[in-house]
Amino acid sequence: MYLKKIEIKGFKSFPNKTEILFEKGITSIVGPNGSGKSNISDAIRWALGEQSIKSLRGDKLEDVIFAGSENKKAMSFCEVSLTIDNTEKILDIDYSEVTIKRVGYKSGESEFYINNKPCRLKDIKELLLDTGIGKEGYSIIEQGKIDEILSSNPSNRRKIFEEAAGISKYRYKKEEGEKNLKITKDNLDRITDIYYEIE
Ligand code: ATP
Repeated sequence: MYLKKIEIKGFKSFPNKTEILFEKGITSIVGPNGSGKSNISDAIRWALGEQSIKSLRGDKLEDVIFAGSENKKAMSFCEVSLTIDNTEKILDIDYSEVTIKRVGYKSGESEFYINNKPCRLKDIKELLLDTGIGKEGYSIIEQGKIDEILSSNPSNRRKIFEEAAGISKYRYKKEEGEKNLKITKDNLDRITDIYYEIE
């Protein structure tokens, strides 16, 4: 499994549709300061569902949308698509190529798609669990991340090992199960109350 292609339109310094193709192995992106190298990794994290605009070096969703330049008008939306090779079926979906897309609007709303079908952020999160790709995965090590990992507390560091070991899926499912159990218990309590009221 590897990232084959990124398509960016309207995200930060990329107003025009920009396609970046990756081969297997190592790809380096080089360019002068301020030319948009980090904006590419921001685009990847954003498409994977990053909700914290601060961690994408902005204050509000609007800040990741192209803000305009001398000869180009500001845009009202942005979109980023990531195409992942899935021939080894590491992602639990019956396609050999998976495209995850996020569209963001100035209003602050976002839409998510898997292979062009609208989906929830939760679906993307679940698809990427235990693959290391998710927004909290270890496949994107941005500037300062190593320092953050080394200085973070043991329970946060443990999350990285759990993702690598394939345990986070079970932790996630357990938490979801506990939430559903609580809802069911509350419903049962409510039914019991109504039952005693009408008896
Ligand atoms: P360095 O090598 O210094 O780390 P870099 O190549 O990683 O630089 P980035 O930080 O990716 O550069 O890009 C910074 C550029 O992106 C700046 O010129 C900034 O004006 C531009 N930029 C950021 N957000 C937007 C936006 N919403 N609209 C237009 N341009 C933007």
